[in-house]
Amino acid sequence: MMSMDPVLPGAPTPRETPPAFAPYRWATPLADIAARHGLQPAQILRFDGNVPPLPGVPQIPLSESFARLNEYPEGSYRELREAAAAYAGVADPECIVVGAGADDLIAIIARTYLAKGRRAMIVAPTYPVYRIASLVENASIAEIGTLDAVQCRAAAVVWLCNPNNPTGEKLSPAEIASFARALPDTLLVVDEAYVEYGGDTVVPLVAALPNLVVLRTLSKAFGLAGLRVGYAIAQPQVAAELTARRSPAPITIPSARIGAAALRSPRTDVEETVAERDRIRAALLAAGYECPESFANFIFVPLAAAAAKADELEARGLMVRRFPAGIRITPRLPGDNDVLLAALGAGEAGAADRAAAEARRSATVIRTTTETALRISLKLDGKGRARVLTGIGFLDHLLTLMTFQSGADLDLLAGGDLDVDEHHTVEDVLAALGDAYGQALGARAGVTRYGSAVVPMDEARATAAVDLVKRPHAEIALAFTGDRVGGLALSLLPHALERFTMQAGFTVHIDAAGDDDHHVAEAAFKALGRALKQACEVTSTGVRSTKGEA
Ligand code: PMP
Repeated sequence: MMSMDPVLPGAPTPRETPPAFAPYRWATPLADIAARHGLQPAQILRFDGNVPPLPGVPQIPLSESFARLNEYPEGSYRELREAAAAYAGVADPECIVVGAGADDLIAIIARTYLAKGRRAMIVAPTYPVYRIASLVENASIAEIGTLDAVQCRAAAVVWLCNPNNPTGEKLSPAEIASFARALPDTLLVVDEAYVEYGGDTVVPLVAALPNLVVLRTLSKAFGLAGLRVGYAIAQPQVAAELTARRSPAPITIPSARIGAAALRSPRTDVEETVAERDRIRAALLAAGYECPESFANFIFVPLAAAAAKADELEARGLMVRRFPAGIRITPRLPGDNDVLLAALGAGEAGAADRAAAEARRSATVIRTTTETALRISLKLDGKGRARVLTGIGFLDHLLTLMTFQSGADLDLLAGGDLDVDEHHTVEDVLAALGDAYGQALGARAGVTRYGSAVVPMDEARATAAVDLVKRPHAEIALAFTGDRVGGLALSLLPHALERFTMQAGFTVHIDAAGDDDHHVAEAAFKALGRALKQACEVTSTGVRSTKGEA
């Protein structure tokens, strides 16, 4: 019938799609949501994306993966397929088909097994791309509520998401196996995008079931959605049919290399996300919400007035995914989740709750002034992951390195009056980071208290010493030889580090000197990160001050 855009008179006519076809709709971009509600982008927390709050860290040097951009990828993607096979527990890499995300593989499967006159069944409600890909191929589609072989008898393809998006529910491998055995002429696609968060994989069944295809992705547990890497697992003859129909080189060289490295030594956020998912669900249940158990990285909350609730949250800068029957929440760092729970009337109230909140050692600081708007989400006991976007590249670099050394997780977004100069942004960011540290440490009970580090960087050398006792004092001596590194006036750094110290309520001494200002600053922030890591560590013996204060 119609394509996505109106066809101009005289323009070539696209292939028809059925009347039910509608293209995929992305969630509204952050900047548009902010503008709609008169907020700054930094004031918005996204719980709507089903991706981890922080990016996965590439395990091979970026320079290495970008070294051969004049060449095409190796088109069989052998390295990536071998890594995926080993990760998924499949002996033969010929069972693996790779694609630019699971979405690409959904399209390839539809292209391979669906056409006009063929039928696709969708176990709904579920991920909308199955429907879109099936309709693009002009297949007829029908939705069913449960995986039922009788209803699927005439289907060429059955799409099943397990655990399911958006409900988080899962089916057992036994149910899936008996369905696949009952309909040997039907291709059963089991999308395991969220399997790492608590699903039960059916990959071991593939060897015995030629009509089973399993989809996987690096977009969820691995935190690499921007790379666009997915893979399918099927028997070799099915895999060969799919590969024959994919484009010659759908995955870029950097994506394939980083993806293969990630699959070889997985570093995922699963544990933290599952803990927060279950905590959020328990808090919602306690507050009277209904909330099915979830085995994915999100929670579905059935609500009669879902749209109104989503609107209300959005106006406060809290974005959840809206559905006709409820809202879907993807956990972020603990401090962020507390902001959402409070907005849903499920915040912590009693002393025991407050003690539990303190034990999470996480804080979210949202601040707007006439000059800047910023948000900092900090989790002290993290993995050294950082997403820092201040608009000042060198400051981002310094805070990313400091976070890496500190072992915390940090999501920092700032928008300031950089058109005037960077003064306000630098100072406000460091001051708010100090606040976040102060809040995340709470009463500081049981911390090591002291930390120190010496960090050389080529000819430069920095020392940092930290005392978490609440007697704010800063001695910052950074011996720079010039005025700027990149977009950052170096004279701002000592003052900003002082603000950090005062807001956090620490004592901080930093000395750094060398010939190259970049090295001096970098060594100073790394040393501070390492000293903070030591000082913030929780000891079993409790507070260490002869005066009895923490
Ligand atoms: N499958 C499901 C069930 C999903 O929810 C999503 C993304 N939200 C995808 C696949 C897409 O994965 P990819 O990023 O690998 O294309």
